[in-house]
Amino acid sequence: APQSGIDYRAELNEEQFSAVTSPPGPALVIAGAGSGKTRTLTYRVAWLLDQGVDARHILLLTFTNKAAREMSERVRQLVPHDVSALWGGTFHSIGNRILRRHAEDLGLTPAFSILDRDDQKSLLSSVVGSMDIDTKVRRFPKSEVLATMFSLVENTGVELKDLIEARYPYFEDWQKEIGEVHKRYTKRKLETNSVDFDDLLVLTLRLLKEQPDLLALYRKRFRHILVDEYQDTNSVQCELIDLLSADGGSVMAVGDDAQSIYSWRGADMENILSFPERYPGCRVFKIETNYRSVPEILDLSNAAIRANRSRFEKDLRSARDQLGVKPALVPLEDPSVQARFVAQRLLELRDEGVPLEEMAVIYRAHFQSLELQMELTSAGIPFAITSGLRFFEQAHIKDVAAFLRFATNRRDETSFKRIALLLPGIGAKGADKLWSAWLATGWAAKDEPPGWSEVLGGLKGVPKKAAKHWEQLGYIFDEMTPGGEFAKPSDMVYSVLEGMYDDHLRASYDNYENRRSDIEQLMSYGMGFDDVLEFLSQLSLLGSADGEPTGDKSELDAEKVTLSSIHQAKGLEWKAVFVIWLAEGQFPNGRVIEADDEDMMEEERRLFYVAVTRAKDELYLSYPLINPKSYTGDVIQRPSRFLDDFPKEMVEEWRVGSSWEEPDWDERDDEVDEPF
Ligand code: ATP
Ligand code: MG
Repeated sequence: APQSGIDYRAELNEEQFSAVTSPPGPALVIAGAGSGKTRTLTYRVAWLLDQGVDARHILLLTFTNKAAREMSERVRQLVPHDVSALWGGTFHSIGNRILRRHAEDLGLTPAFSILDRDDQKSLLSSVVGSMDIDTKVRRFPKSEVLATMFSLVENTGVELKDLIEARYPYFEDWQKEIGEVHKRYTKRKLETNSVDFDDLLVLTLRLLKEQPDLLALYRKRFRHILVDEYQDTNSVQCELIDLLSADGGSVMAVGDDAQSIYSWRGADMENILSFPERYPGCRVFKIETNYRSVPEILDLSNAAIRANRSRFEKDLRSARDQLGVKPALVPLEDPSVQARFVAQRLLELRDEGVPLEEMAVIYRAHFQSLELQMELTSAGIPFAITSGLRFFEQAHIKDVAAFLRFATNRRDETSFKRIALLLPGIGAKGADKLWSAWLATGWAAKDEPPGWSEVLGGLKGVPKKAAKHWEQLGYIFDEMTPGGEFAKPSDMVYSVLEGMYDDHLRASYDNYENRRSDIEQLMSYGMGFDDVLEFLSQLSLLGSADGEPTGDKSELDAEKVTLSSIHQAKGLEWKAVFVIWLAEGQFPNGRVIEADDEDMMEEERRLFYVAVTRAKDELYLSYPLINPKSYTGDVIQRPSRFLDDFPKEMVEEWRVGSSWEEPDWDERDDEVDEPF
């Protein structure tokens, strides 16, 4: 018997068992939603440990940090082995770990800052501003667009020039200038000892490619690489795994081509489809049983995805018994009626004994949750939002983080300016000047603590209005210096809040109380850390990129309904799931309809498949008929085409609110406006 005492045969089906216990070597598990792919990976880790594999030889790559934590937690419950040496997390977090160790090799220091989308944008505008581009006649792309362009270039390996031609023909005349922005942006990142999210992958890859000895080191370390949600890897991630495993390391990849939903961010389904060719001798496992959903829901899901020209044919059988209740199809008058319906139904289900955390409302786009957020708030139903602004993306949280970042990375221009801008009398120009003055002191490049009060106090160009605050700034940084009175992450937050930021909050916002408690929340989150760099890395990684639901304080206490975009619901499951806004122009998205591109439409359909396969017992498909918010006035919306992909007998049509008539869509075909 294995050391863990796990009865692998009993806890896994035949196909899962073969995958879990397969001998070293490349393996691909390709199977539909809810078939236990993630479970298979978890047991694979346990099995490897049972085989005597050292935890440090295992690298577990998941789509969110939360997923990695949950899997390690599960493994910990399963086996007696010490798994603390196992590396698990997102590609970005693993990249971060590797880069921190070898930052010097790339011209960075281990204290480099991670720029999030906002930081990236402000750095880009500052670069564009420095270039004196004549935009009187032709428009130049805004930093948001530039950031996306550069990100696609990094993640797909495509040339900037080709990308502009293919996807941004409108900006073709600016090709040279955009190239120059890219060059300067890259340089500025290095100068400010900063990396953006894409760099976490790209620089890691470059490091390993350029340094054979490092590569050998990591190849020796990661003998077993396990990857969940492999269908959504991009070319850099794919190459990274290929590279790390090329020397006889074992890769086990699991995924589902029918759930590939991130091509807009550079993910490439080809990576999973071509896996067997890239890894000769690869074992392919298919699981055909679904453990998640009742047959009523599974039948609908199977039918829904069949409308795509899927490449890996797979029809799932349900391991569960019929529930005797069909998924509900619910046409509703408008978004607020829809919100009321959902709220009411949530309460009914709760009364029937379904806990709130077992229910989710999911949608194509974040803004589609607004009515619902309002309705749930007024109905007193607690909810957690995993789309939209997350805890650590909020301005006041980022303000506080800027102090900590600058205290640890004195070349962090973005953070310095962010802090300067908080002070009265300092605007963008003033912040620029102060930054130059700071650079001129020479302290940015030094390692020893500067004696902040003195150095900052001596800076030229501090406006009178800001003088007192500026002085205070020096004290705060002195307190935060390593070895200082408030050098731990949580204490640093305290020092910033009490030393200065609380005044700013009071003066700036009318919801001061809320924001203050957010920061207190940050402080308590910081208690879990001794090392400020680790704390800051964690904040940055939780904030964006991987679509992370964690870090939200709501996660700390359960008993909440989940509101989520479908993208972020990937891999998760709930007893009852509501998919809302299933109207043409909403889902599928209006831009996709307009583009009239079959590949794009298939990705929308995969998204629909991901949505319906999240449900275990109950599924509600709803759509508002009228969209009063549209600026063209009221728009009548047709039901989503995805609702035509399965036979009507598969659903139960609900009539809710009877004062309106649904048009006969077949007859009205041509009259309907597509909203966008
Ligand atoms: P997705 O494609 O959505 O990521 P998945 O293939 O990763 O789904 P899991 O999340 O691993 O599927 O499993 C779905 C559910 O089925 C989970 O609740 C899991 O515990 C359960 N399950 C999977 N395999 C088995 C099994 N052999 N016996 C009992 N339950 C199982
Ligand atoms: Mg999964």
